[in-house]
Amino acid sequence: MLRKFSLILVIFLFSDCSSDYQFRPVERTKVLMDTFIQISIYDQNRPQEELHQIVDLAFKRIEEIERITNNYNDSSFISMINREAANRAIVLDSIMYDLILESDRINKLSEGAFDITTGGIKQLWNFSGDNPRIPGDSLLLRQLRWVGADHLKLKDHILQFDSPEVKIDLGGIAKGYAVDQAIDALKKHGITDAMVNAGGNLRTLCSDLTRGERRVWIKHPRQSDSLFGFFRMDDGCVATSGDYERYFIFDSVRYHHIFDPKTGYPAHGCVSVTIKASTATEADGLSTAVFVLGVQRGMELIERLPNVEGIIIFEQDGKLKWKASTGLKNKFKTN
Ligand code: ADP
Ligand code: MG
Repeated sequence: MLRKFSLILVIFLFSDCSSDYQFRPVERTKVLMDTFIQISIYDQNRPQEELHQIVDLAFKRIEEIERITNNYNDSSFISMINREAANRAIVLDSIMYDLILESDRINKLSEGAFDITTGGIKQLWNFSGDNPRIPGDSLLLRQLRWVGADHLKLKDHILQFDSPEVKIDLGGIAKGYAVDQAIDALKKHGITDAMVNAGGNLRTLCSDLTRGERRVWIKHPRQSDSLFGFFRMDDGCVATSGDYERYFIFDSVRYHHIFDPKTGYPAHGCVSVTIKASTATEADGLSTAVFVLGVQRGMELIERLPNVEGIIIFEQDGKLKWKASTGLKNKFKTN
């Protein structure tokens, strides 16, 4: 049985389970944060109705995060920050504070490759709209002056920008954060076995009910509906960033939505980056960061960080190749 969602798939091989493995998860999917969000929980002891109520609470938490971080909505907190943070100090709520602090940590770890001030660059490429396009170099160069973590001042819970031209965007980390928060909500209600998958950012909780049964599949980046490979995972957090979900091709060149903050152009070098980390927030941020760093520097960063593993798919001589970090090398199986 195979359920497919965006970049990463989790497959439970029911046929692998013993014959007393009879029940199905309570499972629901919603479109939120511009992607499919799937929540599945396994619990043998409580009525389905109660489990559905718990799933509702997890979705509510994700909706709250979406309301705050949604750049497409003028009345969201992030849109207000982008309009006003140069003119006055903004007191952050706990969601925005967590996200900006973690973004700053990943910015430093990746020597600036992960940078939420690429928001203005994303607007110029119009990846938020229906018709992405290559912006003129002069526009890009002008906006690049306002890219860089030092344009943000965060002290205690107070944020300020040093220019109205600075625009932040949390698209590279907010879905991972939403997954962590949803899992926390599930745990708070006694759930011990679950999966939350937000468009390829996923976290699993494992009990004896599913131990040994979960596989994380990486989608094939160049053949839609095909799978590239998998590794087994009980408890964990994984995210994938790729050049094949949001992109356009012009004059045989692929342009996608992960930008090199140094150039304002889509980063090249990687095709797909999958990161396993301690939280889904960290996995999400690092997958974007490693994508920008490229195969060599990206893999060096993965190997340097404790509790972080990764798989990078890249193109060489017109062929897809992959590299896995030390901890995944023997676990990753290609199709
Ligand atoms: P997806 O959104 O498909 O899961 P990512 O997690 O890699 O993929 O996030 C890509 C998004 O991150 C872009 O749409 C944009 O909002 C934002 N982004 C792009 N480049 C960067 C960057 N260098 N640093 C931080 N965020 C970025
Ligand atoms: Mg990301």
